[in-house]
Amino acid sequence: MTTTLFTGIGELVTNDPRHDGTALGILRDAALVVDGTTIAWIGPAAQAPAADLARDLGGRAVLPGFVDSHTHLVFAGDRAGEFEARMNGNRYEAGGIRTTVAATRAASDEALTANVARLVSEMARQGTTTVEIKSGYGLTTRDEARSLAIARQFTEETTFLGAHVVPEGVTPEEYVDLVTGPMLEAAAPYARWVDVFVEDGAFDEDQARTILNAGRAKGLLPRVHANQLSEGPGVQLACELGAASADHCTHVTDRDLTALADSGTVATLLPGVEFSTRSPYPDVRRFRKAGVTVALASDCNPGSCYTSSMPFCIALAIREMGMTPAEALWSATAGGAKALRREDIGRLGIGSRADFAVLDAPSYLHLAYRPGVPLVAGTYVGGRTG
Ligand SMILES: [Zn+2]
Repeated sequence: MTTTLFTGIGELVTNDPRHDGTALGILRDAALVVDGTTIAWIGPAAQAPAADLARDLGGRAVLPGFVDSHTHLVFAGDRAGEFEARMNGNRYEAGGIRTTVAATRAASDEALTANVARLVSEMARQGTTTVEIKSGYGLTTRDEARSLAIARQFTEETTFLGAHVVPEGVTPEEYVDLVTGPMLEAAAPYARWVDVFVEDGAFDEDQARTILNAGRAKGLLPRVHANQLSEGPGVQLACELGAASADHCTHVTDRDLTALADSGTVATLLPGVEFSTRSPYPDVRRFRKAGVTVALASDCNPGSCYTSSMPFCIALAIREMGMTPAEALWSATAGGAKALRREDIGRLGIGSRADFAVLDAPSYLHLAYRPGVPLVAGTYVGGRTG
């Protein structure tokens, strides 16, 4: 394998507290050596070993690539008109999903694949190196299976979300039978995770438990869309079932927070949704006080949040949810890795994947200090530029 030495790293975020006693584990004037797709050495530039190739990053900041652990990229069409209506004063409700379902069912495999490719490339240009992708705009056996087959071309982190909303023309009972039966059977080969949108207007607690348990019986791991639009049973259910993550958590009780902390289920916060639906943000200080592990993700989807930008979500989390800059970066990298139960990403250390972003800035602080500015100078996945 060819080894490459990266020098001239003004600030290196490792997420390894052994370096500086903080969660971000920051090294200054650092270097790292990539061997194949993994990191072989990391430390002060003055002590760096020789390598086959060398690259000087000119004093730029380097951080673990963002782990965007919650997206819905397999869809067709857009809902800009719905966004406009919302900004004009209408409230977001879960039913808009059906608009995208109709467009997605009508789209060819090629069109859906091209749209995912476009969005994944957009994400890479903004520093994302791992993306989770959900199905959930097909809602038929054929369309859920093909959505996941398409997602699988881009990531191992694929999630079966047949239980996104009950489609038109079937009763909720019939639909739960379909999701836990033939649809699950067809989707499972392409999915690592199973997810349910637990909300008024989507699925209730009993339906969600049935669907998540059916997924588990097929070897899928649970994660839950929980407590987005109102307080409800989603977070408690996620904790009860040992889900990797409860996502949204916009409306949580103190009891929910205690359950998250006790179970170790990650709370994945999605501030782009609150931004794009003009809704109140969760207050991260409550999560911190309760000892909950928090991840940040984009929730990139055509309805409630059509951003692919983790830097934008970081800026929102700091400004609107009360995160410190260090917490927000950790949650967007190491937090996302925990939400996907991955040890090889979300950090930079010997043996981890060489997935990192180089900023045209001296410090990660610029991600929020300079909101909306395209600061990512390069994204490396497995040591190679994307
Ligand atoms: Zn979502």
